[in-house]
Amino acid sequence: MQLFAKILSVGLATRPLSPVHDEAIHLVRTIDARSRRLFGRALAIREVDAGSCNGCEIEIGGLAGPVYDMERFGLHFVASPRHADLLLVTGPVTVNMAAPLRKTWEATPAPRLVVGAGVCARTCGVFAGSYAIAGSVDRFVPVDAWVDGCPPEPTDILRGILAALDRLPSGEPRDDERGARPARGLRRFWRRGASAGGGSR
Ligand code: SF4
Repeated sequence: MQLFAKILSVGLATRPLSPVHDEAIHLVRTIDARSRRLFGRALAIREVDAGSCNGCEIEIGGLAGPVYDMERFGLHFVASPRHADLLLVTGPVTVNMAAPLRKTWEATPAPRLVVGAGVCARTCGVFAGSYAIAGSVDRFVPVDAWVDGCPPEPTDILRGILAALDRLPSGEPRDDERGARPARGLRRFWRRGASAGGGSR
């Protein structure tokens, strides 16, 4: 009863977004436009916790929360790598997660982008040297973009996703992806890159 009384007395409580959120909205819109041009639809992201402390996951969760609410622009997390365009990997890779991470990458259809989020993904961070750690993310899967920070802010994660998408139009598929069937929107870019003698991603 007290709750309803408070709801009635307070009414709607909203406040304008700060300028930093304006930047986030701009980034999400740019990512969505780029994804639709490349893939013909919105970007599907599979998050992989390869051994993080979950600090990075809290920030990634913020992307789907009420402030950033990236799903309103079409970006969404998916439960299966088979439905994903991009893997967002956090943490140092633990011994137990090395094989699952590689299998997740192999199960993701080409062109499969990988973003390493958090300083642990790139350097193992404070976990370096632990008996439980197998190595940084790029020891097990090719990484297209890194997002530094411990943990990185949601806006930084969006920048990393955009940086990974930016690598696609100008390059050829990586060596380990040659022969894999690229998404329809990318074949044109890859053909152009191959005929122009473009470098590898
Ligand atoms: S980068 Fe920081 S927040 Fe992310 S997993 Fe490592 S220690 Fe945790």
